[in-house]
Amino acid sequence: MRVGFGYDVHRLIQGRKLVLGGVIIPFEKGLLGYSDADVVLHALCDALLGAAGLGDIGQHFPDTEPRFKGISSMELLARTFQLVRDKGFCINNVDATILAEAPKLDQYRSAMEANIAGVLELEPADVNIKATTMEGLGAIGKGEAIAATCVVTLREK
Ligand code: MG
Repeated sequence: MRVGFGYDVHRLIQGRKLVLGGVIIPFEKGLLGYSDADVVLHALCDALLGAAGLGDIGQHFPDTEPRFKGISSMELLARTFQLVRDKGFCINNVDATILAEAPKLDQYRSAMEANIAGVLELEPADVNIKATTMEGLGAIGKGEAIAATCVVTLREK
């Protein structure tokens, strides 16, 4: 079995859609980034790449390439899954934590899990999304950013 860990953070600004785990979430701000800035899926891609020994998301999908501008992170996840599969691995499970002061994310968790399970060809029970606040501490606690961490385990096919 192989373990991979991923982390990502993006700044919250006015005038962007908030997309987390492939779900568009009604909120007054969204995450700034070259793609849709979906921190959950970026942390997940990095965890997958890490577990497979394939480097990181910036190497595979550089933000200097116009073809990745505004791209859905669901598409990045699908491409990452392909890389992991091509290297001869299957995914056992995914466990992610979102660090966000607002909005409340409880009601969106199962939709995120279903999105991710769909792309990664897993059962929804094999994908777990958690959310927590930073208790008002730091940039995330002040509502200036949202971050996500993710752990995945892989096995050889
Ligand atoms: Mg990112």
